[in-house]
Amino acid sequence: MLKDKKILIGVSGGIAAYKIPLLVRQYKKAGAEVKIILTPASLDFVSPLVLSTLSGNRVLTSTISENKTEWENHVDIALWADVFIIAPATANTIAKMANGICDNLLLAVYLSAKCPVIFAPAMDLDMFKHPSFEKNRKTLLEYGNIEIPAEEGFLASGLIGKGRLAEPETIFWQTVAYFSKEGKFKGKHILINAGPTYEAIDPVRFIGNRSTGKMGIAIAQEAALQGAKVDLVLGPSSEQINHPLVNVVRVESAEEMFKACISIWKHTDIAILSAAVADFKPKSSTDQKIKKTPGVDEMSINLVQNPDILKTLGRTKTESQILVGFALETNNAIEYGKIKIKKKNLDLIVVNTLEDDGAGFGHATNKVTIITKQNKIDTFELKSKTLVAKDILNSI
Ligand code: C5P
Repeated sequence: MLKDKKILIGVSGGIAAYKIPLLVRQYKKAGAEVKIILTPASLDFVSPLVLSTLSGNRVLTSTISENKTEWENHVDIALWADVFIIAPATANTIAKMANGICDNLLLAVYLSAKCPVIFAPAMDLDMFKHPSFEKNRKTLLEYGNIEIPAEEGFLASGLIGKGRLAEPETIFWQTVAYFSKEGKFKGKHILINAGPTYEAIDPVRFIGNRSTGKMGIAIAQEAALQGAKVDLVLGPSSEQINHPLVNVVRVESAEEMFKACISIWKHTDIAILSAAVADFKPKSSTDQKIKKTPGVDEMSINLVQNPDILKTLGRTKTESQILVGFALETNNAIEYGKIKIKKKNLDLIVVNTLEDDGAGFGHATNKVTIITKQNKIDTFELKSKTLVAKDILNSI
């Protein structure tokens, strides 16, 4: 994913520096080369030994080597990097970056850098709100530096508010997104839906299904990785997704999913509908929990049909839009798939069957056949949902 990319990390002196070893591990696992510069103040928060072990490179802490006989060439270090990530970027370091102050190696490299600079601020909420920080932050954006915004949450001061360093996961994906912005789907807007829907019977009960949303989430992440802007309309799934280029819209019922998809579809180039939308919902649901009635041992629930989201998008599809549906079948999968392409006006359908071991709901793997409207049929091996996502995007 980041194979052979040269990532330079600059760590300044804030408590959030404890998160950087995890970030280094993620970069290394993704195949990147990593070098790290620590400011003198950061040495109190994170160990150079940990970072040099994880990165496999000597950690740089000063403009002069430890034995005082050599000078660290900040120009060469800056030229080595494909990207310079400054995280955590403290109020102090951001102020110095904004004003050309150069009293440590990190700042000297920053002033020499030709590569893009991504900075992730981290500080206490009052510092974060101070107008001087806001002014300096804006200055960095004017210089063309890229910000990974601070998040809200618990701060080391014990206060709760904005100023937390973005999670290593977020910084990692933002870096991936930076490198993948030349991807195949650059400039494309993709709508994906995923997961089950819950159709309320009463405030505590619902009709649902066994979908986890894993397949759709894998497609969303892969599409973002390949440069797309992604809207993921996600039903009640317990899966977590935290990706800076995937906008997640959480919904519960088929009706809510329908409304969200219809409004996004107008601005979309491609829609991939992988959600297991309930075909029927209770005709009415009660505000109070339904109680057992003594002596009555049967009850029935009247169901009415939900809107078919895929069919509705198919009806309004323009020449330039691409629509992809899914079909989960228990028998005659290919035949049903072909019928669905026509019935729902699709460009492509992804068929899977519960007959195949390791395919369908809940598994980390899937086995699919992709059929195009020109009747081209490709059957793939059982593979991870991430690899299936790649196959689907390649077919598009
Ligand atoms: O007709 P069937 O439900 O088997 O088709 C499956 C495809 O239709 C999937 O892509 C699913 O997301 C979509 N679908 C839908 N709205 C429904 C039912 C299914 O969009 N109410």
